[in-house]
Amino acid sequence: MPHPAPSPEQFASDNYSGICPEALDYSLQANQGSAPAYGDDIWTQKAADYFRELFEIDCEVFFVFNGTAANSLALAALCQSYHSVICHETAHIETDECGAPEFASNGSKLLLGPGENGRLTPSAIEAIVQKRSDIHYPKPKVVSLTQATELGTLYQIEELRAIQAVAQRHNLRIHMDGARFANAVAALKVAPAEITWKAGVDVVCFCGTKNGTAVGEAILFFNRDLAEDFAYRCKQAGQLASKMRFISAPWLGLLETGAWLRNAEHANACAAYLEQQLRQIPGIELLCPREANAVFVKLPEAVIVSLRAQGWLFYSFIGTGGVRFMCSWASTRARIDELVADVKRAMLLPV
Ligand SMILES: *Cc1c(COP(=O)(O)O)cnc(C)c1O
Repeated sequence: MPHPAPSPEQFASDNYSGICPEALDYSLQANQGSAPAYGDDIWTQKAADYFRELFEIDCEVFFVFNGTAANSLALAALCQSYHSVICHETAHIETDECGAPEFASNGSKLLLGPGENGRLTPSAIEAIVQKRSDIHYPKPKVVSLTQATELGTLYQIEELRAIQAVAQRHNLRIHMDGARFANAVAALKVAPAEITWKAGVDVVCFCGTKNGTAVGEAILFFNRDLAEDFAYRCKQAGQLASKMRFISAPWLGLLETGAWLRNAEHANACAAYLEQQLRQIPGIELLCPREANAVFVKLPEAVIVSLRAQGWLFYSFIGTGGVRFMCSWASTRARIDELVADVKRAMLLPV
């Protein structure tokens, strides 16, 4: 049987992309000879050290297979089963993890707060904390922030600092879902430390898959006490890779070559270009500001149907329900132009 021909690039998600050359190159290098299993290899050691250098802190580093596991296990380490986790109502941990955070924590409840454009606000957090303080309500213990958010927007440093202040006042820990952490760093042009531990973040789940690896997320505990026995939690959850080097080596490839940031800059720039092209089409409305690698637009239903009929794949259930176009390290200008031309045709406009 012949293998299927490669499909053209889509904008449904950044995880539609393949493995970037740097990650693939390091995987091939790691594939020489044998190496100790379960993370006791040189690749894992070097990748962990690189994270410590990049974040300018002696953090604890763990690798798991995917983002759902990273978020769920990290949250479970931050609270007891009778605690609660405050997050935005569109947070991935609430809408797209099938209850895994509650499952991994034996029942810690997620408490949802509002906020414009996917960003949780200090006042929303304050309101949730103040709502109840009696024994019958799950005690708030963690704030979970997604950077960049599910709506492709960013928390600025000042916003993180304001949330840190509320968290400190109420003894809350801060978890960061960094599914698109690299895109946030690239867009904000800040050192990773500035938007994590220097802003009170205790743990960040840094996604490799959406940045250019095949699989594997890094969990960085800046608050090392919270990482006590975390390795056991990962193992029990089936998240300890025995051939760990094939998760850590591609990560080292991203980090050591600078590809992690270049990939994110490229994805953001592609989204900026797509936004600029779509904005020129009369009748197309941007649903929220484009700040990283996602563009959310409102399209007429007939246009959505037409695009789908032409083979375009995209989500229309995320966040506010508009169409989401997501760019990645592999996005090309030519393919964006094709998409824009098809949108114009579907709107009966000259191309
Ligand atoms: C993709 C994504 C994740 C991780 O999802 P997995 O499919 O479990 O790897 C987590 N948070 C957000 C915001 C995401 O977009």
